[in-house]
Amino acid sequence: GITIFLVSACLVGLNTKYDGTNNLNPRVLEFLKDKLFIPICPEQLGGLPTPRLPAEIISYPQLKVINIKGEDVTSNFFRGAQETLKIAQFYENKLSGIILKEKSPSCGVNYIYDGSFQKRLIPGMGVTARLLFEHGFKLFTEKSIGREADGNLSWQYFSPSE
Ligand code: SF4
Repeated sequence: GITIFLVSACLVGLNTKYDGTNNLNPRVLEFLKDKLFIPICPEQLGGLPTPRLPAEIISYPQLKVINIKGEDVTSNFFRGAQETLKIAQFYENKLSGIILKEKSPSCGVNYIYDGSFQKRLIPGMGVTARLLFEHGFKLFTEKSIGREADGNLSWQYFSPSE
C-alpha cells in the first residue's frame, strides 16, 4: 500500500523558517526522494507570518511560548500543533514516519532552546512534536536519517554538541 511521510517543511527547502529561509537537509531530501511526503510547518499552520520573530518555550512542561520581544505566542503554537495532528490523523495507518526539525520550539523532538534566547539547548520537545508523541506517532529528526546500515530510519538520540 501507499506509505506517506510527514516532514517539517523547512527541512525539504521550503522557506518557512522564522527568518524566511529554510533548513534544507540533503540527507532528508535524499531519503525522501522516492517516497511520498507531505511538508508541514506548524508555525505557519498556527497563523504566524513568515518571516516572524524567533520564539522559544519559556516554561516546560507547562508550556508557554514567547517571541524574542516577549509577546506570548503560545496559542499560535497550540493551533499549529492541533492542525498538524489533524493532518497526521488523515493518514494515520499509512504514515511511515514523521520527520521533524530538531531544536525547534514546534518541531524539536529531543532538544529545545531554554527560553533565554541565548542558544542554550535543554532536553525537551517542541509543542507540535509533543502533541504528536502523546498521540502515539513515531517521531524522527534530520539527525536520525540514514544511521542504519540498511538506510532505514531509526529513533536516535543525539548530543547537543553533535
Ligand atoms: Fe521548520 Fe517546524 Fe519551524 Fe516550521 S515550525 S519552520 S517546519 S522547524
